[in-house]
Amino acid sequence: MKVPFLDLQAQFMAIKEEIRIKIDSILESQRFVLGPEVEALEREMASFCGVKRAIGVSSGTDALLVCLMAFDIKPGDEIITTPFSFFATAGAIARLQARPIFCDIDPLTYNLDPNKLAYLLEKGKRTKKIARIKGIIPVHLFGQCADMDKILDLANTYNLFILEDAAQAIAAEYPSKKGVKKAGSMGLAGILSFYPTKNLNAYGDGGMVLTNNDRLAEKIMRLRVHGERKRYFYDMIGGNFRLDALQAGVLRVKLPYLNLWLEKRQEAAARYEALFQASGLIERKMISLPLAVYKNKGVKNYHTYHQFIIRAKKRNQLQAYLKERGVETVVYYPRPLHLQKCFEYLGYRKGEFPEAEKAAREVLALPIYPEITPEQQKYIVDCFEDFYKKD
Ligand SMILES: *Cc1c(COP(=O)(O)O)cnc(C)c1O
Repeated sequence: MKVPFLDLQAQFMAIKEEIRIKIDSILESQRFVLGPEVEALEREMASFCGVKRAIGVSSGTDALLVCLMAFDIKPGDEIITTPFSFFATAGAIARLQARPIFCDIDPLTYNLDPNKLAYLLEKGKRTKKIARIKGIIPVHLFGQCADMDKILDLANTYNLFILEDAAQAIAAEYPSKKGVKKAGSMGLAGILSFYPTKNLNAYGDGGMVLTNNDRLAEKIMRLRVHGERKRYFYDMIGGNFRLDALQAGVLRVKLPYLNLWLEKRQEAAARYEALFQASGLIERKMISLPLAVYKNKGVKNYHTYHQFIIRAKKRNQLQAYLKERGVETVVYYPRPLHLQKCFEYLGYRKGEFPEAEKAAREVLALPIYPEITPEQQKYIVDCFEDFYKKD
């Protein structure tokens, strides 16, 4: 049996009539950049995510960059983030000649560990080692929110901004002290990505900034068009961070389906759990399953399973074996950010963030999408059982 890592075809088949009508109407309008389609998406997305303002931009990466530009991040400024994320999180910091300060993850959630964050800030303050620290970028990795109450408390104590990287976690919910919050709505700003592999995906690149701060929203809208105040007059330096109308149109067709798709992801995750429990592989300590820490805490989207991440013994051999049997898997992420060549100048060493490094050696992402079938999942778990038969 063949199980692709991601099957976008199935989703397209289900909605292609609606998509074609929408694309046709945009072709008829001949308005391709920003405009009414993007504005409509911004209103719908702000309401969906529970924020006052949403600003459509060219990608998740550009959303991070334009936020940091809007916060007036300067060369030498320091921003804390996780070493276990997609490159863009730290890349955006470094592109402004600011300094990524890494903080290790919680091994159960793969998200920033608030206790280690507290320790880093306390020590940084005492030793003046991190003196120019301006903010924190927590990442809601794999579709589950970081522990935001604790992170927000620390940000308050130290007077730091929070920029949430919710590229993998659109619609994920967090049971905060102040009630249920959606990913990207809790910090000064949050970002989304609509890259084709993400849970809400465009037919190309796209991203969004979320915020409750009107002044910040206005500034980002200007930075999105080179910093223009009025036509051909510039008070600040921005870039071309615009979202295309065609992408916005596609996303508007898909947004009403998102909750249903996320439910199906949760169902698929539950099937994996039942199958793996029955396999005995967990008791034999061959694999461990992802932990949904907010399950039964009064939130529906406690985990949106952007990825279904397990830890596995002999991970690399397992992956090769699964490939032979037609099952595609991916390692997110094989090398933590502090050990990337381009960040050598930051001076981090191997061993400095043991949990991120351990995760990089052990994690494996299994195929998960709303349309994956129980037969495909059963086949995958059967392959696991065959692989670990002799252990
Ligand atoms: C995908 C992703 C981004 C970047 O989004 P793009 O739209 O691909 O630029 C940033 N952060 C994380 C955690 C991501 O997964």
